[in-house]
Amino acid sequence: MKLNLNIQPLSSWIKTSSEPLVIAGPCSAETEDQLVATAHLLANTGKVSALRAGIWKPRTRPGEFEGIGSIGLEWLKRAKAETGLPTAVEVATAKHVEEALKAGVDILWVGARSTANPFTVQEIADALRGVDVPVMVKNPVNPDLSLWIGALERINNAGITKLAAIHRGFSSHEKSAFRNEPMWDLAISLKTHAPDLPMINDPSHITGNRDLIGYISQKALDLDMQGLMIESHIDPSVAWTDAKQQVTPAALVEILDHLALRKPETRNTEVNDKLTELRNQIDKIDDLVIQKMAERMKIVEQIGNYKKDNNITILQVNRWDEILNKRTNYAKALKLSTEFTEKLLELIHSESIRKQTEIMNKNEAGQAADKLTHA
Ligand code: PEP
Ligand code: MN
Repeated sequence: MKLNLNIQPLSSWIKTSSEPLVIAGPCSAETEDQLVATAHLLANTGKVSALRAGIWKPRTRPGEFEGIGSIGLEWLKRAKAETGLPTAVEVATAKHVEEALKAGVDILWVGARSTANPFTVQEIADALRGVDVPVMVKNPVNPDLSLWIGALERINNAGITKLAAIHRGFSSHEKSAFRNEPMWDLAISLKTHAPDLPMINDPSHITGNRDLIGYISQKALDLDMQGLMIESHIDPSVAWTDAKQQVTPAALVEILDHLALRKPETRNTEVNDKLTELRNQIDKIDDLVIQKMAERMKIVEQIGNYKKDNNITILQVNRWDEILNKRTNYAKALKLSTEFTEKLLELIHSESIRKQTEIMNKNEAGQAADKLTHA
């Protein structure tokens, strides 16, 4: 399903100084000196297209630094006047929107905690009505694609067409190397729903660790995301928020210089021909996989009927364990990862169970109703 969003291209609202597009700046504006000095260093790299800084900080726990507040808008004005960098801040209430616009902030963004709350998003959207300002919407903290889409729709419905999504990863109960799990499939899913919507990756909040920023940035570019938002601080060791994930402007340059820029397409016909040939092979294999799945489900139906006639339960745990073990061992020998094989088998298995449950519960009345609807 394609989303019905009215969107202008990224190039209509941000001048890309160099490839890829980079928005950088401190997690929080802390002091006028810290912000302005960081802005100068970032502008001097020639690789940064906009300056970000949080001045109202949504903190998970009370008592942490909650942002410098409106005074930070004056510092942003000065940073922009001295460096020429357009500015971006997070807004979470109608009042933030009003103040930021009044202070001439160029780009607004909706933070992950706000995106998770439709009331908050609607309040921001209402405050934006009739205003022509670019807005970037971070994914919600929880892995819920509809919430992310809903927030984009609310902002777009308010008339904002200079719109982008920011992928900053999702909260997860599972332990991992990342502060927020990237869950790339969710970001890819949004891209397929809205191919024209620019997507910017935020490797700082995904990793929570400056050493992993380069790795995530590369992956984002390889997935054809349009830009990066990276937290950069003149001295991360003394940063008031998110100290572990911020990098100095010099370290930012180092990270950017190591990124490989690959194109989604090429004009080289030899390369295109080879790609077409390989894609044709994949298409054939995918068709076969689907055909085999359909054959498998037909047999599952037979088993379901047989179990029903003989009063046997649908699930036999031993049988499922045996399938899982045998197949994962086989798959491993064929160099498929166990995680992938288990996920695939679980998906197939749950569909088989669903089909058999349907068969088991189909009584005469159900069959009669079926006949009627198909007549
Ligand atoms: C931020 O950008 O500093 C921030 C608070 O991010 P998020 O909303 O992604 O947590
Ligand atoms: Mn931050």
